[in-house]
Amino acid sequence: MSQGTLFIVSAPSGAGKTSLVRELIESLDGIQVSVSHTTRAKREGEVDGVNYHFTDVAEFEAMITRGEFYEYAKVFDNYYGTSRQAVEVLLAAGQDVILEIDWQGAQQVREQMPDAVSIFILPPSRNELERRLASRGTDEHAVIARRMRDAVSEMSHYHEYDYLVVNDDFTTALQELQSLVISRRLSRPVMTERHAPLLAALLSQAPTVE
Ligand code: GDP
Ligand code: ADP
Ligand code: 5GP
Repeated sequence: MSQGTLFIVSAPSGAGKTSLVRELIESLDGIQVSVSHTTRAKREGEVDGVNYHFTDVAEFEAMITRGEFYEYAKVFDNYYGTSRQAVEVLLAAGQDVILEIDWQGAQQVREQMPDAVSIFILPPSRNELERRLASRGTDEHAVIARRMRDAVSEMSHYHEYDYLVVNDDFTTALQELQSLVISRRLSRPVMTERHAPLLAALLSQAPTVE
């Protein structure tokens, strides 16, 4: 079984990455999203173990000490992190895995996994970003203001990513994400591993016709 690909998806809060990633994994087989741990409060409608593993600060810090995180960072004063075990088990089972993480986490992942494919999602404008944050209806006014302020510093890291997707029309952005996953699956290194028996048979010197 060949190892899956790790995809990193980052974006400023409200750009649409959670909605896009949800549709992406529904539309393709063999790809899953890693469920992060966070110390932020649960939003209405969020489910523990589905959207995040909601954790208190003491437990998060104990996990840091035990070396259980593949990456972690403080974002908007809360801890967010990806557990090592969750990612490694899925990749070893040949699944592609998406990490929805911030730029600090992305840097830590690239160091450990240089083959990871990183994608940055941009909103079509600042006004639209603010409108989406407000329309989502899950955050207080002060939280939205904080996230808008942090959006510019998050976006300033766009040049560290392999691919950029502008989430203006949702369907177009989704198709672009699907294309990135599919083209990675067709890349020579991935195909060579997956189709090793085929390639060996095609290239063998033995005559196939009597
Ligand atoms: P949303 O992006 O507006 O839905 O807000 P969230 O509260 O879900 O995420 C806040 C920030 O934390 C975003 O920048 C995420 O990319 C980041 N984040 C979420 N999970 C992780 C994680 O496991 N690790 C890291 N490093 N960042 C994360
Ligand atoms: P993020 O995970 O990046 O914070 P969300 O996926 O929660 O973003 O999206 C923020 C809000 O914007 C949600 O209410 C979502 O339905 C909406 N949204 C996402 N993409 C688009 C789009 N292309 N056009 C209009 N609204 C969108
Ligand atoms: P929210 O609180 O709105 O769910 O997420 C805010 C931000 O935290 C998002 O932009 C998301 O990318 C980031 N984030 C979520 N999970 C992780 C994680 O596990 N690691 C890191 N580094 N960032 C995360």
